Amino acid sequence: MNGLRELLKLYRDLGAEFLENRRPNPATALQELHQEILRCRRCQLHENKTHYVPGEGALHPDFLFVGEGPGETEDRFGRPFIGKAGQLLDKIIQKMGYRREDVFIGNIVKCRPPNNREPLPEEAAACLPHLQRQIDILAPRVIVCLGKVAFNHLVGIASPIGRTRGRMFHYGAIPVVPTYHPSYILHKKIKEEISQAKWEIWEDMEKALALLKSGA
Ligand code: URA
Repeated sequence: MNGLRELLKLYRDLGAEFLENRRPNPATALQELHQEILRCRRCQLHENKTHYVPGEGALHPDFLFVGEGPGETEDRFGRPFIGKAGQLLDKIIQKMGYRREDVFIGNIVKCRPPNNREPLPEEAAACLPHLQRQIDILAPRVIVCLGKVAFNHLVGIASPIGRTRGRMFHYGAIPVVPTYHPSYILHKKIKEEISQAKWEIWEDMEKALALLKSGA
């Protein structure tokens, strides 16, 4: 053992620190990444934002929920999904048997696009490495993409959710469940359509729960 330690010291003295395990623990890695996000200038979105919204929640969660980008309330407080769509998402998470702090909630872009427009492809592409690094650190068991924009940028398939929901997708080895963005419910005016949208989202969450149970 002493011999090994001396050998490592010799390598270190020679400048070969890579031989040691220098990976920070996940909590530190996530904290460092979020500090980096808070200084990001990779695209123009940072110019008009009030706060960066890196995302929040549990390390190694069963579920990672990915939205499109912060809205007005999220921009004001620097937290994801805390406006009207967020209240619906909270209800969905609770119905799944979790608390908000048990899962991780993030977005494709970490700064609010002006007037809540969709992120431009170059903005999404510039920000995506942040989410990809979050996923590497968090290692969620299942990813739920909320809406077409999140699904398109994360998985690379630009189809409406109506065509992708119910089908099986992966990000690396992690199963991905596409479902409607909660604001899809908020935009409906007719009672039956609201019930239908809620039912379809719930069907998708049952699938996500089943994937978790099966260990897929
Ligand atoms: N909509 C999103 O896509 N993300 C948020 O954080 C809030 C609303």
